[in-house]
Amino acid sequence: MTNFAIPLWDTPTIPVLGTDDHFPVRRIYCVGRNYAAHAREMGHDPDRDPPFFFTKPADAIVQNGSDTPYPSQTSNLHPEIEMVVALAKGGVNISLEDANECVFGYGVGLDLTRRDMQGVAKDMGRPWDMSKGFDHSAPVTKITPISKCGIIESGTITLTVNGELRQESDLSAMIWDVPETINYLSGLIELKPGDLIFTGTPDGVAAIERGDVLVGHVDGLEELTITMV
Ligand code: MN
Repeated sequence: MTNFAIPLWDTPTIPVLGTDDHFPVRRIYCVGRNYAAHAREMGHDPDRDPPFFFTKPADAIVQNGSDTPYPSQTSNLHPEIEMVVALAKGGVNISLEDANECVFGYGVGLDLTRRDMQGVAKDMGRPWDMSKGFDHSAPVTKITPISKCGIIESGTITLTVNGELRQESDLSAMIWDVPETINYLSGLIELKPGDLIFTGTPDGVAAIERGDVLVGHVDGLEELTITMV
């Protein structure tokens, strides 16, 4: 048995809808600019840019229904509504045909972003880690297993803030769909069971404030509700 020099921390987990099981989270990968309209609103040409990825730490997960602390060092916090893919299997160079066999299920997540800090990072050629991967930056619902919802390729995705519609699109508008994302990402790193993939956000991103109530929806999945505090 291993003796740890300091107390071992808990593995971050997300409940699995309709069961007592929990999904252990290993790594969180996020796709950048995966909806053409959002790429355009951020000043990029969606036809020309290949997919790119960034990460958040696994313990950035916030459970559905939780109060979510407004982070330090920003005055322009943007929530990005995204479908989240949870992997039961991994691999390298996963083929398009095999990609959906890696999927355990799906959730609804928010990629919280310090947009002002990200803008400085872009201007100065600095990394995005502190604008994307801060504490409590990844609220996610329970995972709905594929055995309950089937493979999801289309459906409405929305974000409302205090009951007002901010973002609305369809999952079929993704530039890189889920199998293509798994295929591309597994050519960069070895995907493993427990990995989450945030699949990108549609257009309509804008700032939120303390006290705002955010509701994220994807057809067929549990709804996400968090309050910024
Ligand atoms: Mn995002």
